[in-house]
Amino acid sequence: MPTGELRLNAEQYLMNTYTRQPISIVRGRGTKVYDLEGREYIDFVAGIAVTLLGHGHPDLVLAIQKQVQHLIHTSNLYYTEPQVRLAQTLVEHSFAQKVFFCNSGAEANEAAIKLSRKYSCDKYGADRYEIITMKNSFHGRTLATLTATGQEKVQKGFAPLMPGFSYVTFNDLSEVERAMTSKTAAVMLEPIQAEGGVYVADRGYLQGLQELCRERDVLLIFDEVQTGMGRTGTLFCYEQFGMQPDIMTLAKGLGGGVPIGACLATDAVARAFSPGTHASTFGGNPLACAAGSAVLRVLLDGKILEKGRRMGESLAKGLTALKERHRLVKDVRGLGLLQAMELDIDAKTVVADCLARGLLINCTGDHVLRFVPPLIIAEPEISRLLKALEQIFSHRTTATH
Ligand SMILES: *Cc1c(COP(=O)(O)O)cnc(C)c1O
Repeated sequence: MPTGELRLNAEQYLMNTYTRQPISIVRGRGTKVYDLEGREYIDFVAGIAVTLLGHGHPDLVLAIQKQVQHLIHTSNLYYTEPQVRLAQTLVEHSFAQKVFFCNSGAEANEAAIKLSRKYSCDKYGADRYEIITMKNSFHGRTLATLTATGQEKVQKGFAPLMPGFSYVTFNDLSEVERAMTSKTAAVMLEPIQAEGGVYVADRGYLQGLQELCRERDVLLIFDEVQTGMGRTGTLFCYEQFGMQPDIMTLAKGLGGGVPIGACLATDAVARAFSPGTHASTFGGNPLACAAGSAVLRVLLDGKILEKGRRMGESLAKGLTALKERHRLVKDVRGLGLLQAMELDIDAKTVVADCLARGLLINCTGDHVLRFVPPLIIAEPEISRLLKALEQIFSHRTTATH
């Protein structure tokens, strides 16, 4: 179907929930995608930090093909090996001892919210249920997770929201301390506020938070839906802060593109769940888990984590150099291959200019460009991006003078 016709049909048949770029993507290979007209794009979006291994990674494709032949789905009424195997690998490489599988980031956070409430209720009674989250956070679009999300624009029009949430300023330990009451069950945050504009937490803040939470047996929930799975240079982002949470959620990169989410926890916390307390029909299905295990195998066996870390440094260095040359660049921030550039011009127009130059990038908010390429991104591709941005910014400066 030609792109123009596809656009019209999308308008006719799909609910109007997304603003889409005017291309139709039909195929992907490695770090590149191709549109209907055969144009090639370097993919610095990666399905919003999802396709970690790029498109069509042979190990991932093979694992999915093999699993499809054996069994796609059977439900959690029975044991399946792919699910147990993926849980074991996640546990062996994280602070956690137990895993619950679901299908998305929002669902993983729902599980974390329910688990922390149940833990607190079992131990301290039904009045201790409050969860402190951060202003400018993002935790998903279901009712509980949009309530956890500290952004009015996400909540507007969906009242009444879930009771039991309060909000504090990110990176301010004294505010959390003041907000904690005898009703506080958990503190929930992203180690890097990604959708909110890529704000990295301070090391001292996260360590202080862990200490504060431990003192009061308040659970610390890390939403690593975007930062997890090697995105920031280590398998999980918390590893870089010299501390650990009690609960961690994963999704985006976990299946390399196949929908899957996970809520991980320590044994002591996970014990609050028992049969009948939480469930998901598709959760941990053999197809998604086979994909997850393939992604982890590649991340753990190969040099991809290390390469991603190096490419992240290279990208950050290049973006910082652009900041020094162009006054319209206000800030560059991020960790690993989760990088952002804040502009004092409309970021959407830069996204469009990049698209026209064969580069997929993304913006979050009105002024922040976000770069979340696959971890297999290479130096020449980063150079192409930097060169394009240089041209775009130079144009803008001369045009406005
Ligand atoms: C994307 C994201 C979510 C929501 O994930 P979905 O799969 O879209 O439900 C939650 N938390 C963070 C930090 C995210 O980046």
